[in-house]
Amino acid sequence: MPLETGLLEILACPACHSSLKEQDNELICTGQECGLAYPVRDGIPVLLVDEARRPA
Ligand SMILES: [Zn+2]
Repeated sequence: MPLETGLLEILACPACHSSLKEQDNELICTGQECGLAYPVRDGIPVLLVDEARRPA
């Protein structure tokens, strides 16, 4: 289920405040040295550093 249009534009990575992009039901931080992947559960982004997946 795609996120509401415009939602990504107001969300930011809580770790580095970079913008996010949606990919494979996750929100990926676009920060060069961050890149954390936040899960989207039932259409709700979980923007918690503790819940984020570290980049490989
Ligand atoms: Zn980040």
